[in-house]
Amino acid sequence: MAVIKANAYGHGMLDVAKTLALAGVDAFAVARTDGAIELRESGITQRIAVLQGFFNEDELKAHAALGLEPVIHSAWQVDLLERIHSPVPIKIWLKVDTGMHRLGLLPEEFEGILQRLKACRSIEQPIPLMSHLANADALEDSFTQSQLSLFEDIHLTHPEEASVANSAGILGWNQAVREWIRPGISIYGVSPFPKRSAIDEGLQPVMTLRTRLISIKEVKAGTPVGYGGDWICPQPTRLGVAAIGYGDGYPRLARAGTPVLINHQKAALIGRVSMDMITLDLTPLKDSKVGDLVTLWGDGLPVETIADAAGTIPYDLLCGVTRRVKFIDT
Ligand SMILES: *Cc1c(COP(=O)(O)O)cnc(C)c1O
Repeated sequence: MAVIKANAYGHGMLDVAKTLALAGVDAFAVARTDGAIELRESGITQRIAVLQGFFNEDELKAHAALGLEPVIHSAWQVDLLERIHSPVPIKIWLKVDTGMHRLGLLPEEFEGILQRLKACRSIEQPIPLMSHLANADALEDSFTQSQLSLFEDIHLTHPEEASVANSAGILGWNQAVREWIRPGISIYGVSPFPKRSAIDEGLQPVMTLRTRLISIKEVKAGTPVGYGGDWICPQPTRLGVAAIGYGDGYPRLARAGTPVLINHQKAALIGRVSMDMITLDLTPLKDSKVGDLVTLWGDGLPVETIADAAGTIPYDLLCGVTRRVKFIDT
């Protein structure tokens, strides 16, 4: 089950869905109903799980009409399911909270809710189970083990198809791999682990974010650069400007020294990131010229590195790429 929420982690949901459908994916997962409707409207016929389920009766009707598969995580959703009459049984996923403490039934509610769902005429039986891992990216942390054993206990009382693993679960925890897996970040070629790179996992980045150099000038030592004059050139500097900024999704909090790639060589970000531009120290890149391509992340420059330099995680950078960035399928 390929997770393509948040516009496929910023990659473009419909393009990603079509590519994965051709590759034989069994199902998709999106966060909310509107994403699933968009997929059906563009002709996606695969199964689609909606991770937050329906929010109200109208959405439940859309799930029934379009063959969407809501994740049921709360008793109030069961009330709605008991009231609806669906000619075609609705496929659901029943989510148990084994320690994430976000969505899902608490273990003590599980049996009662399950019995109600089993008695529900409009629901397809048997009901598959789902749970989510809170800390699977921390391989030395025993919390995942306790989530997995709690899941195992519940699963024994209802031994149907199950889905537990996100990317970190798939790559790091054998026991989390059940009939269904839910990779997100890893299908975009990015490591879910803070200390293991995509290359360590045999993954290749799907997204490369690029722009061009639009200005180069030589400035004296002591020259302040950008808003606030935060950066003061410590030496005579070949100063480059690249046409990208936080208005495109480049992180405003990227620190001075964050690398970019120009002609396969690294150059350092200096000064504050603006909405539409960043400033670069091109002093070591004597041959760089206006018009050169600048890679912000992706091919040759892991987004993991940039996320680290901006005090965030790759997920945040990928799904933060904004609409004005042109998407080119290569
Ligand atoms: C986002 C999400 C995933 C995918 O997680 P990755 O870390 O990107 O692999 C899987 N399951 C649920 C419930 C999610 O919300």
